[in-house]
Amino acid sequence: MDYLPVFLRLAGETAVVVGGGQVAARKVDWLLKTGARVTVLAPELGPQLALRAARGELTHLAQPFTPAPLAGAATVIAASDDPQVNAAVSRAARARRIPVNVVDSAELSSFIFPAIIDRSPIVVAVSSAGASPVLARRVRAQIEALLPARLGALARFLGARRAAVKRAVAPGARQRFWERLIHGRAAGEVLLGAEAAAAATFARELRTPGDDRGEVYLIGAGPGDPDLLTLRALQLLQQADVILYDRLVPEAILERARRDAERVFVGKETGDQGQQSRINELLVSYARAGRRVARLKGGDGYVFGRGGEEIEALARAGIPWRVVPGITAALGAAAAADIPLTHRRLAHSVTLVSGHAAAEDSLDWRALARPHQTVVFYMAVGQLPRIVARLRAAGAAGDLPAAIVERATLPTQRVLRAPLASLAALAAREQVAAPALLIVGEVTALALAAPALTPLPGDPLPGDCATIGAVA
Ligand code: SAH
Repeated sequence: MDYLPVFLRLAGETAVVVGGGQVAARKVDWLLKTGARVTVLAPELGPQLALRAARGELTHLAQPFTPAPLAGAATVIAASDDPQVNAAVSRAARARRIPVNVVDSAELSSFIFPAIIDRSPIVVAVSSAGASPVLARRVRAQIEALLPARLGALARFLGARRAAVKRAVAPGARQRFWERLIHGRAAGEVLLGAEAAAAATFARELRTPGDDRGEVYLIGAGPGDPDLLTLRALQLLQQADVILYDRLVPEAILERARRDAERVFVGKETGDQGQQSRINELLVSYARAGRRVARLKGGDGYVFGRGGEEIEALARAGIPWRVVPGITAALGAAAAADIPLTHRRLAHSVTLVSGHAAAEDSLDWRALARPHQTVVFYMAVGQLPRIVARLRAAGAAGDLPAAIVERATLPTQRVLRAPLASLAALAAREQVAAPALLIVGEVTALALAAPALTPLPGDPLPGDCATIGAVA
């Protein structure tokens, strides 16, 4: 480790900034946030610093750099555009043992500025020890995405209650009380901006610690690529202490949950009718035991996910819940296979259909066979020949374009395209397996493919994904 990360208290201290331009202005912004008294040494000021000087927020010494104004300074920042001036600032500061930062020069600096996430009083600082500030900023962006916007408010809320907790909770039980509080209802309310409700909840939790009602989060996990989780899904996964998950939820997504959360696999074997009611009962009993339960479902919980039934069970049992939408497989597949589901020329509506319903023959095939639309069949693998036959009997042309997207958005995704008449044969030859979607409509024949694209972390390697063309 090349640097020791520390947090400097600068309130009331003098901070000297040499330079009057934009770079200096950004450093001044940070310094002023800490309550430092800022002196800017520069013959001239750019517009941002000039405005601050006019408002009396800083002292401007309109002169070239000389060491004299460094006397008594707690820190010095050299942000002029003249390397010789910056070097002189560095020498003068070091001779006086004042911590100095020279912008863009780790060698001339005794400390460096990190990339900062400011949810005061929570502050996260990221450094690459000067090796790659751009990479450090990206790490910051990744961490920032995980942190709730109102984290600072939560820290202040908890800070304001330290004394009350100290009075009410015995020392041995305090740690546990805070743990539960941070993961509990009051904290959740603060994070949603409902501070008044949170204060009432806190007062109740303080009177009867341990009397924490459980709750359930019905979370759509998306089609498989963990980067397609929503920020809210990630935040609730960090809160939940039990996770009930399906077959469609990959390990890479479970890894984003709290490390110490209990994981319960509740994947359904097809045809196991009892499993759904067992899941409903599990959700209710975990919540009754005061646990926060994340119910993770592939795609979106309200699209062929039986989320409705689980919520009905919670409603009957009087257990609170929150639903987080996920990217349903049709949308994931559309994006990952470049199949726009609607198109001004080709498709004016899109219909999501359950392949199981196809088996039961409860569908309006004539409506599904009409032109100028896109029909997406979920759970279609076992029903392909029947679906094709029904569509054709209802008037769909044999050359109507169609596609199968298998394991959409996952590294092993395959896209098979063929006219309706030869689709079932192609699927059989390629041994298509679940999870896969059947997409029927002219949009599947658009030959869209991006030229070489900047890869994102988690993207499949070139050649991993297969597109398989029509067979005659
Ligand atoms: N709630 C889910 C659907 C569950 S039903 C959603 O909103 O996506 C299960 C079916 O979803 C599978 O049989 C398959 O048809 C489809 N599916 C789910 N994930 C998929 C994926 N990554 N690629 C293709 N199809 C998928």
